[in-house]
Amino acid sequence: MKYLSRTIAAIFTAGLMLNSPATLADEAVKVYAQKNAHRIMEDFRTFLSMPNVASDSDDMMKNANWITDYIGKRGFTGEIVTAGGAPYVIAEKKVSGAQKTILIYAHFDGQPVAPENWTTPPYEPTLRDGTVESGAKLINWPKRGESFDPEWRLFARSAGDDKAPVIALMAALDGLEASGQTPSVNIKLILDGEEEAGSPTLGGILEKYRDRLTSDLLLFCDGPMHQSRQRQLVFGVRGAMTVHLTAYGPKRPLHSGHYGNWAPNPNDRLVQLLAKMKDEEARILVPGYLDDVRPMSEAEAQAIAALPHMDEALKADLALGDTDGGGKRLEELIMSPAIVIKGFEGGGTGSKSRNIIMPSATASLNLRLVPDQTPDNLKASLTAFFDSEGFWQTDDEPTDKELMAHEKVLKVEWVAGGYGAFRSDLDSPVARKLISILNDIDGEATLLTPTMGGSLPIYLFEKELEAPIILLPVANHDNNQHGRDENIRLQNLWDAIDVYAAILKKFGS
Ligand SMILES: [Zn+2]
Repeated sequence: MKYLSRTIAAIFTAGLMLNSPATLADEAVKVYAQKNAHRIMEDFRTFLSMPNVASDSDDMMKNANWITDYIGKRGFTGEIVTAGGAPYVIAEKKVSGAQKTILIYAHFDGQPVAPENWTTPPYEPTLRDGTVESGAKLINWPKRGESFDPEWRLFARSAGDDKAPVIALMAALDGLEASGQTPSVNIKLILDGEEEAGSPTLGGILEKYRDRLTSDLLLFCDGPMHQSRQRQLVFGVRGAMTVHLTAYGPKRPLHSGHYGNWAPNPNDRLVQLLAKMKDEEARILVPGYLDDVRPMSEAEAQAIAALPHMDEALKADLALGDTDGGGKRLEELIMSPAIVIKGFEGGGTGSKSRNIIMPSATASLNLRLVPDQTPDNLKASLTAFFDSEGFWQTDDEPTDKELMAHEKVLKVEWVAGGYGAFRSDLDSPVARKLISILNDIDGEATLLTPTMGGSLPIYLFEKELEAPIILLPVANHDNNQHGRDENIRLQNLWDAIDVYAAILKKFGS
């Protein structure tokens, strides 16, 4: 997800300062984390110093070994496993007397880096007193006994996405133990070493190790938090598919003057087809396409109504005079499927334009799915729609014979790997328990986001595991994830420790 501008962050930070929360978090854990900040940060720094591009198996094994050792010191029995791809770490810590188990997902690989774009090297963790964009200055790493300002940021690849959960979770366990407290749950971990590469072997891992991953709750700890910096749970993601559509005209480019009005123009054909797929508010018109869409529940409608309104600030930030969706807010609109024209190619424009009728025009579409749409059903409704528009369809480059045999030809290329959405119930007993634990941390209501607009293959977990799945993001929204100068705001790390401690302490009680 792309981070929002400083303007928006400033608006919300200002809002937050007005009602700075009373602290009801586990004081002992908080005190522990502050007293041990130097050690925790030093561990984080070591972890972040290890390059972690999924395709480099030596590097990924170093990370995996470091993790198994680090969590092993906290009583986890961990194992590095693969299903023909990058290493994953699966691990378990049994707590005597605990009846319930929480499974936590995070990933320890990071996006590839272009070091020349970074202000400081991506695998040399560095502190600044704010974002690079705001001109924040470098801070010398504090000596033992010196403190870390919570508004400082730690810059390194994977600082925000997604190495923090391992550090914060272990710090929470250390804090509980140091204060004589026991987690109320058994803890299992699945740490992904290839998320940024699309987790190609995750399905295999889950299939192979499903029996070791059973739990009462899967907490999916990835992604940025809400722009308001308020604590947040996310209950779903959209699915995603890609299709390329190509319409055809004459077999070679023709003079647009001599042949215009006579030779069919593939640009016209494709534009007309695309224009029929949605109305002016971007509502989908393809017959049958919306048939399976799960209606929004009362709880989801209420949760959306309770979220801070982002639309006006976003519109100002993006210089938008209007938005799609007939006036509905962003969080409601992403509950619906989307058909997005990603790009269109059918001849040159500007100085590259020529007065010709092109042989073909291609558009690439990104489809975002919601529950309970399936890739197969969407393919079927689009196939029927193209058919009803008079197109003969093929997934191959049509031959001259095929082009001559049909009035209109459309090449339809589905990109492999499309998958459906995931959304869990805001009202389930597990969700309610988790929400109340988080709300009790400081008495502030946790933001409940029914779905994010983006996509993750959570359906794989849903397929193999029984447990309810809830997303718990911990990183600041402006962490520059995937980009240069990725960072985590230190307060987000301290907050994550509090959140994990509260969940471990109370979920099983
Ligand atoms: Zn991530």
